[in-house]
Amino acid sequence: MVSSSLRPLEAPSPAHICPFDQACSYLDQAAKELHLDRGLLAVLSHPRKVVTVSIPVKLDNGEVEVLAGHRVQHCDVLGPYKGGTRYHPDVTLREVSALAMLMTWKCALVGIPYGGAKGGIALDPARYTVVELERITRRYTTELIKDIGPAIDIPAPDVGTSAREMAWMMDTYSMNVGHAVPGVVTGKPISIGGSRGREMATGRGVMIIVREAMAERGRSLAGAKVVIQGFGNVGGAAAVLLHEAGAKVVAVSDATGGVFDPEGLDIPALKAYSLQNHRSVVGFPGAKAVTNAELLALPCDVLIPAALENQITEENVHEVQAQIVVEAANGPVTLVADRALENRGVTVLPDILANAGGVVVSYLEWVQGLSYVFWDEERVNKEMENLMVHAYHRVIQESKERQVPLRVAAYTLGVGRVAQALADRGLYP
Ligand code: GLU
Repeated sequence: MVSSSLRPLEAPSPAHICPFDQACSYLDQAAKELHLDRGLLAVLSHPRKVVTVSIPVKLDNGEVEVLAGHRVQHCDVLGPYKGGTRYHPDVTLREVSALAMLMTWKCALVGIPYGGAKGGIALDPARYTVVELERITRRYTTELIKDIGPAIDIPAPDVGTSAREMAWMMDTYSMNVGHAVPGVVTGKPISIGGSRGREMATGRGVMIIVREAMAERGRSLAGAKVVIQGFGNVGGAAAVLLHEAGAKVVAVSDATGGVFDPEGLDIPALKAYSLQNHRSVVGFPGAKAVTNAELLALPCDVLIPAALENQITEENVHEVQAQIVVEAANGPVTLVADRALENRGVTVLPDILANAGGVVVSYLEWVQGLSYVFWDEERVNKEMENLMVHAYHRVIQESKERQVPLRVAAYTLGVGRVAQALADRGLYP
């Protein structure tokens, strides 16, 4: 590993689950495989720009609270920075830095002209009113005003944010520069230049990857037993689309708990139930209750962790019964667990491939915003599907050629493309 004083961004969490160290380990592995020059590796190991801002917010009760917000821009050698904005109590600078690095490889892997970035505010959105969240989002955007823009860095939704927050960000940016700038964020409402198909995009991409992986095993989605951890932006959409395609979604969970039905859950009914039940699947009639921990150990063909990082760890990896694990979340399988699954012959479809559908449609949204020509949903879905299917088969081919697991193959492709671009551009000055 390349050592540097810059790497420890703040007090690290335990080494085996520190997200930034894990991201660097995967990078180091790819660099070894690619025989990457040490200097190039050193450049790619560090985020180019790290911004931390204080966000003072007046609460509805008149009190003032100060939150910490981050934006990390990892590498813009291929194009403007791109990546989501996360609202979660566990957000740290190290986590955001890891996720920014993942975005660089993800964009390069699927062939879209972006560099990686990520933003986040350490807060629990459930503890704030909508007006407070709006004030927080607008102040955060204002603090970052010089660091974002359609040609600089384009935020999008991530855990805890959605089209609503993107609309506030777009409006705040536009008011500051004096004219409407739809291209400054993606994942925004369709009324202000959002793309059709963006809301379901990450889940649709996951469904496509599961479909391709099953097809490779001579099976279709029909009847495949699927377990999904997470029922939000990603897990919820994947559940709906997999169910529509005939898969048996036997269990899903959210932050409040999970539900299980070995015969397959009625996903449209569960979706409606969850919306009425304060976004909780708990108590869904006819289903058995399961905890998030139990859910990961259920028998199934495909396990889809679609919530947060570090869910499958050295502690519970031996309980996983699935033959295929699809990382719909970013970093849900720890480094140690990844090796254990690999040794057991379980296929892990890595996050930078499996959840790339979201940023692919973000790219299509940005292109539509820049050209002021808007497409129908069929065209958006088709363009995304082409890129996802192509990336999937490239990863499979790379894995066979190099005799490496799919994650290493995805990394060698992503890192290799960025390294090539960096070598071609040369180091400035
Ligand atoms: N937050 C999503 C991700 O991790 C989407 C990012 C984007 O659309 O820019 O891939």
